[in-house]
Amino acid sequence: MEIVSVAIIGFACGAAFDLVFDRFYSDQAVTGPLYRCGACKTRATPLLMAPVLGFILHLGRCPDCRERLALRTLVLAPGAAGLFVASYLVFDEELGAGLLGGFFATIFLTLTMTDLERRLLPNRIVYPSILIAAALSWGWPDTSVVEILAGGAVAIAIATVLLLISLPFGANAFGFGDIKMIVLIGFVVGVPPVAVGIFIGTLTAGIVAAFLLVTRLRSRRDYIPHGPFLALGAIVAMFWGQDIWDEYRG
Ligand SMILES: [Zn+2]
Repeated sequence: MEIVSVAIIGFACGAAFDLVFDRFYSDQAVTGPLYRCGACKTRATPLLMAPVLGFILHLGRCPDCRERLALRTLVLAPGAAGLFVASYLVFDEELGAGLLGGFFATIFLTLTMTDLERRLLPNRIVYPSILIAAALSWGWPDTSVVEILAGGAVAIAIATVLLLISLPFGANAFGFGDIKMIVLIGFVVGVPPVAVGIFIGTLTAGIVAAFLLVTRLRSRRDYIPHGPFLALGAIVAMFWGQDIWDEYRG
């Protein structure tokens, strides 16, 4: 059963990202022993390091300092397993494409968690991911290398325009982290899906931001993360971008 192997690989990928999660931020050392609790950084036991199970068995709190453990521990490994399986099915059970799509979907899920947890889309994830995406541009079944590289170029152009438009809007505007994430989306999904991804990402972000402002759940000065919406747009574009584009073009 190939699909079970894909799910296990995805689970392991998400669990690995969860373990090194703090290392993605530039204020953390890249090397050193693994820890689960960001508050006390006590060297973790194997039981505490176990994905999902470690969180549940310790009731979501660090056994040493009783600080709450990050919710990403519950999300990343099962989420990645689900995304790998979805990718495998979307790419007609082609193993290579399924793993490639699963990997980048997991990158976007991880960026969602960093933006929610720390309001950051770390360079340590985004820059290497852009390089990996460009290097593996030949790996997609229905997208050529030229289409992928053109996607990167289009994304850089759109990101520049978005940045210029949003400069006067302050805190709720697009930041440099969002801009770099858009460039990553371009190099992952290529043309024309990059347009679909950015459209879905910015539209859903705008709708949710407008809802939060109108209902006064957030004020104009509050931070509203764009990363989760861009991640949603990226995953939809990667899986169904070409179909949506064809439908739109009639
Ligand atoms: Zn602790």
